[in-house]
Amino acid sequence: MHLSFISTRCQAGLDAPPVTVEVHLSAGLPTFQVVGLGECSSREIRSRVRAALISSHLKWPDFNITVNLTPAERVTPGTRFDLPIAMGLLVASQQLPRNAIDGREFIGELGLDGCLKSSRGALAAVLATARTGTTLCLALEGASQLANVEGSRLIAAPDLLSLCAALKAADPQLVKAQATCSSNTCDYPDLSQIRGQPLLYRALELAAAGGHHLLMSGSPGVGKTLAASILPGLLPPLAPTTQQEAWLIRDLVGLSRVNGPTFRAPHHSSSIAALMGGTAKALPGEISMAHGGVLFLDELTEFPRAVLNQLRQPLESGEITVTRAEHQHCYPARFQLVAAMNPCPCGLADNDDGSCRCSPNMIRRYRQSASGPLMDRIDLHVKLSKPSPEALLSAASANDSSVRLRERVTVTRERQLSRQHCLNRDLAGDDIIAACGLSSTTRKGLIEALTALSLSARSAHRRLRVARTLADMAGEERVSMSHINTALSYREAPTGAGGE
Ligand SMILES: [Zn+2]
Repeated sequence: MHLSFISTRCQAGLDAPPVTVEVHLSAGLPTFQVVGLGECSSREIRSRVRAALISSHLKWPDFNITVNLTPAERVTPGTRFDLPIAMGLLVASQQLPRNAIDGREFIGELGLDGCLKSSRGALAAVLATARTGTTLCLALEGASQLANVEGSRLIAAPDLLSLCAALKAADPQLVKAQATCSSNTCDYPDLSQIRGQPLLYRALELAAAGGHHLLMSGSPGVGKTLAASILPGLLPPLAPTTQQEAWLIRDLVGLSRVNGPTFRAPHHSSSIAALMGGTAKALPGEISMAHGGVLFLDELTEFPRAVLNQLRQPLESGEITVTRAEHQHCYPARFQLVAAMNPCPCGLADNDDGSCRCSPNMIRRYRQSASGPLMDRIDLHVKLSKPSPEALLSAASANDSSVRLRERVTVTRERQLSRQHCLNRDLAGDDIIAACGLSSTTRKGLIEALTALSLSARSAHRRLRVARTLADMAGEERVSMSHINTALSYREAPTGAGGE
């Protein structure tokens, strides 16, 4: 019987559902056809697999070859099916015994010289096979890192011929897990680099502790970009599930694996697809790549309004559904948003020397160009000014290091998680009032303050979330009036659209 069945995996979002490659050889004119794929894709696969077999001193079967990938609706053409198709040909043409493929799955791209190349999304396949207890055969490149997945059984080889030799062995050697190395943790600038900016320092601490989204406004050169890139270094290590999701996303877009929160800073000219996800293959975008980390939008007002409006939904749900042609995938996107903007179109409005020539109307329009509903989701708005020259030259204190602050942030976050199973940022309406545990005096004081400042309900909730974090930082059970006053002192940038 010239028929073989090879198990493999395709990619569907962060999952890797099973796919079977069926190879059938029949007498007749030597042809090669992959059912369901177009003439062009079939020809490409044939060229690669044929060259790889011949370079590996294996025989290309001179038959009428039909390859079927099933279930067909799951399959998107890709190089990851090269290896399973080659294995199917070898088994069907009896160049490889059938027991060599029993209980094993295959994934990988073939080079024309027969070498095996790792494919994007291999991590998802490793996780899936680890759950089912099957052995996965793949490229040697990057395999030792993949072997860290608990329960994984991997056979890796640099090329097709070595893989065939390994499969024929009675007891092939499995890839050993790599000793965890800390070298691929990202290095972010240290907090001590911020001098003479107590407000910025405090805002970063609050943002890290409560997970609050942050908007900084100030002239160019006040350190907005530096502050944003410091933030991921202040965040505690990711929870195991979040870390795994972050790795899966990076693996899918072809980025190397890093430990801990990531930092993404897409340019304002980025397309919606690049930012939200959904290129031709419905891959994740920048907001998913920032999952568990920080998404920095510099020059916020330069981003098209349509792009900013799209951010609202993932900010709320922590995920994004990407739809392209026949594919629809859901990717996690729980990131911390840090945005920066200038005080006016020329950026000089904060200088007292009158160098800014922008009219009040221009400034108002400029600030309004940041989407109002997006502003509603940003708890912390800070206005920065240039530090004095003395402060810039002062020595940094050891208390100001990122490591120290991260320890405090970790404790504060644990308090929030044990109380309400989420960060203060994610507390909505009634929950935030319940979480604050206001005494009757504080409640009265709050109502007076809100009336005096004529704040909307949304805006009041934002301040309460920040006040809750301030109380958590001080280790206090209830939010007091002093926390509320401090929270109210974080005056929002007058965007004119913030709902105040
Ligand atoms: Zn100006």
